[in-house]
Amino acid sequence: MKKIAVRNLRLCTKDCLCLYVCPNGATDTEDSIIDTSRCIGCGDCAAACPSGAISLVPVTYPPQQKKDDAVIAALDRLAENKAKEEKAALMIAGSAADPGLRRLMKAVARSARLSAEDILREAGYMLPQSGNALSLIQSLIDDPPSQGFPLKEAEELLATIECNDGGYRRREAGTVRYRCNRCLTEFEVREGEEPVCPMCGATGDELERLE
Ligand code: SF4
Ligand code: SF4
Repeated sequence: MKKIAVRNLRLCTKDCLCLYVCPNGATDTEDSIIDTSRCIGCGDCAAACPSGAISLVPVTYPPQQKKDDAVIAALDRLAENKAKEEKAALMIAGSAADPGLRRLMKAVARSARLSAEDILREAGYMLPQSGNALSLIQSLIDDPPSQGFPLKEAEELLATIECNDGGYRRREAGTVRYRCNRCLTEFEVREGEEPVCPMCGATGDELERLE
């Protein structure tokens, strides 16, 4: 598996050993970001770095391991509970007069958020290249969760990352996306074409246009 080196700038203490050992000058850049076009993945920089700031990552990730539907459903429920826990803790923190309770509830909220993120990764959103993760980004673009949602960045991500498991197909220009409110399937039709759910055959009011 071909790998390249990446440097975590937060860990880098700038003692520059990686500059001396790299056979290709890939670590010696103006912006401190390793030049991936020159990196041959030998790993010498990672071995020399005293701060553990360099890792070797695969150029192409293998498809994410599939999980059983029952496991995914259980993990989804768990993540939903963690999201509720976070909201409740933030509400208490917002109304608490005692500074100690406020701090405690903020810590509980943060912990619930981290747990939910971990659970969702386990549920199949580990890799941005997975169909799950890309479909999730698409659904957030179609139906942004808040006003401040970074729509442009999300669209750039979708345009940049290639799906590696066939679970997401980039939307073609001139198509419109619908969600079937009977069976919750999302599908696309060409602009001007009458939408019919490919899964259950629903039409008309049972379909919601997503953009
Ligand atoms: S060897 Fe490690 S700590 Fe030193 S400059 Fe390179 S990345 Fe940074
Ligand atoms: S892996 Fe090898 S070629 Fe790539 S940056 Fe590190 S030392 Fe240089």
